[in-house]
Amino acid sequence: MKEHLKIHKSSGEVAIRILKNSGAIDHGFSIIRAGEFLLIPLAFVPSAGDLPGEVVKHEEEPREKRPYPSRISGSYDVIGHIAISKEKDPAKLKELAEGLLNSGKGIKSVYFDGGVKGDTRIRDLALIAGEDAPVATYRENGIILKVDVTRVYFSPRLATERLLLSSKVASGEKIVDMFSGVGSFAINIASKVDAHITAIDINAAAVSLMRDNILINRLKGTVEPVLADSTATIREYGNMDRIIMNLPHGAHSHVRQAMWSLREGGRINYYEICDFEGLEYRLEEFRELGLTVAEKREVHAYSSRERMYSVELIKGSQARS
Ligand code: SAM
Repeated sequence: MKEHLKIHKSSGEVAIRILKNSGAIDHGFSIIRAGEFLLIPLAFVPSAGDLPGEVVKHEEEPREKRPYPSRISGSYDVIGHIAISKEKDPAKLKELAEGLLNSGKGIKSVYFDGGVKGDTRIRDLALIAGEDAPVATYRENGIILKVDVTRVYFSPRLATERLLLSSKVASGEKIVDMFSGVGSFAINIASKVDAHITAIDINAAAVSLMRDNILINRLKGTVEPVLADSTATIREYGNMDRIIMNLPHGAHSHVRQAMWSLREGGRINYYEICDFEGLEYRLEEFRELGLTVAEKREVHAYSSRERMYSVELIKGSQARS
């Protein structure tokens, strides 16, 4: 008998992503369907607070053996048919690129990422192998996003975060996404919930792609794209239920303005890249502004010391800690 996470099938996708991130799924065994529920085999039992279900003992089902996949060494992100790597060693990068093109994963273009630049966070990309075709059709969480990797910022590493945030939004919420890019948070949310999201970005190419992305997805809610500097225009919005602030190296200086637009009890979903001490310092600043920290979570590693953190803040004194 093995420990499994028992979860209703409607929450299965979120649960599997959370467990995958923490390495808690035992891949030697299959996920079992039991009526309305899924039983996910666990390598270990993660801390209870993070678990979206109940841990039960169940007879395990050994997984069918699959052929060993061809090995591709090196790290990279995949956005549709495009792979992007920060590998600095030219020989290793070339080998990785050839491996990816021949991997059968549908990769047709491999770019080197020289880092993000300026306010718009656009990557400095150089084609290493394959076609120079920077516009990708990318799928995550049941939606499609058109992304031009040379003209807009986009990170597939936030797919789970976007799904988690979508699952917290209630029907009817009024939301501002201050740094929306091609609409990745906004469209994830509106595809799942009848909410209204004003999605602002300073990059005209991102707002143009967001307009396309609104049209190619089936949405329950509405997304209103706005081309503007949100740090100047945020005060035009009042009584919001939620404000999303995904500018991980610069959002902190705009939290005070964002609070003006938030109703009492409304929430800010805030992202920052920093080390653990930096995060604690920042949270103390937010408490002094009158915000309650409802949740803080590591999203992914960024460097040896730094992490990307997700923080949910509630405005006002009635908020629960
Ligand atoms: N949230 C998006 C996502 O996850 O795909 C994009 C996040 S990206 C880190 C930050 C975005 O903020 C970029 O698209 C950039 O153009 C935009 N941006 C930066 N400064 C801005 C400002 N003052 N007002 C509006 N958008 C801004």
